[in-house]
Amino acid sequence: MNENHGTLYIVPTPLGNLGDISQRALNVLAEVSLICAEDTRHTGQLLHHFSIRTPTQSLHDHNEKQKAAFIVSKLAAGTDIALVSDAGTPLISDPGYSLVNLCRQSGIKVVPLPGPCAAITALSASGLATDRFAFEGFLPAKQSARLSSLEALSEEPRTLVFYEAPRRVLDTLDDMQAVFGPDRQVVLAKELTKTFETIHGAPVADLITWLKEDSDRQRGEMVLMVAPAPKTDALPKAAVTLFLALAEDLPRKKAASLVADAFGIKKNALYNLGLEG
Ligand code: SAM
Repeated sequence: MNENHGTLYIVPTPLGNLGDISQRALNVLAEVSLICAEDTRHTGQLLHHFSIRTPTQSLHDHNEKQKAAFIVSKLAAGTDIALVSDAGTPLISDPGYSLVNLCRQSGIKVVPLPGPCAAITALSASGLATDRFAFEGFLPAKQSARLSSLEALSEEPRTLVFYEAPRRVLDTLDDMQAVFGPDRQVVLAKELTKTFETIHGAPVADLITWLKEDSDRQRGEMVLMVAPAPKTDALPKAAVTLFLALAEDLPRKKAASLVADAFGIKKNALYNLGLEG
C-alpha cells in the first residue's frame, strides 16, 4: 500500500430508517473529499438531512466500468473517496464491483464499514436456519431462465436468500412452488426498518394465497427466503432393495460392494443401512 494514496471507504446507508446510519458512516461521509453515489439526487437528500456538504459524483451500473479508472486515478493522487448506493451495502446487488476490483489490483486501500443490508437484516428475523445460507440476489426476469435457476437450487441444503421486485413476486413464488413443491417454507420480509415492516413465513402455497388476499401485501421492497431442501434418502430405491436382499445371504460388506459398483454409489451408505440408531 502506498502511503500517499487515498482510501476508498465502502459506506452502507439506511434501508429506510435514517436512524440506522452509523456514527462512523457519518464521520467518513463528512471527512472524505468525494462521495461516489448510485444516484446523486437520492444521496443528496441523505447528506442534506445530516448537514454533510461533501461533493458527490455518480457511479452506477451504466457508467461504472468507464468511471472506475478515473476514480482510481483520483485515489492514487491522494484523494479519500466514499462509495455509497441508494440503500444498504454497496456491491450487494448494487454497483461498485468494478471499482473495488480495480482498487485492489492497483494497491489502493479499501476500507469497508459494517451497516445495513436487507439480506442479513431479513435473515436474522426469518426463523430459518442461519448457520449456512446462500445469497442469490435477484432471480432472472424471464420465466424460463428463472425456472432453470430455481431447478439448479432445488436440492440446496442451505437457506436461500433472494431479492425480488414487487411486480414479480407472485410469478416468482409460483415458480418456486412448481420447483420446490407447495410445502417448502418461504419467508417474505418487506419494508424492513420502515413503517409497514412485515415478516411473514408460510409454506409457499399458503404464502401465495396470503399475498393474493390483499394487494397491499404485494407492494414494497422485499426479500424472499427459502428453507433448505429437506434431506432425502439419496439412495436409489432399487439399490436399497437389492442390497437388503443380497445382505441376507452374503456378508454385508460384499453385498454393499456389489450394489455400489452396479449403481455407481458409495458402499458405506449402503453398508450402514439399517445399522444407525
Ligand atoms: N445493497 C442493498 C442491500 O444491502 O440490501 C440491496 C440493493 S438491491 C438494488 C434492492 C433490493 O434490496 C430490493 O429490491 C429488495 O429486494 C431489497 N431491499 C432493499 N431495501 C429493503 C427493505 N427496506 N426491505 C426489504 N427489502 C429491501
